[in-house]
Amino acid sequence: MNCKDCSNKLDSYLDRELSNTEMLELQLHLEGCPDCADSYEFQASVKRLVKVCCEQDKAPDAFREKLRQILT
Ligand SMILES: [Zn+2]
Repeated sequence: MNCKDCSNKLDSYLDRELSNTEMLELQLHLEGCPDCADSYEFQASVKRLVKVCCEQDKAPDAFREKLRQILT
């Protein structure tokens, strides 16, 4: 697993869509690679925000708009 593989699979990892072996490989890479660990943290926090946002109908439009900008 190199950084390119890692970033390609990061999204699936966050969604738990990888096989157990792949999850483990990615996890090991993250533990040894601060750069990828950073982008993992970032994507994980964005995903948490999106989840909170989607679960609340009354999330402000400005907030939704900001999220959309981060994600695109
Ligand atoms: Zn890496």
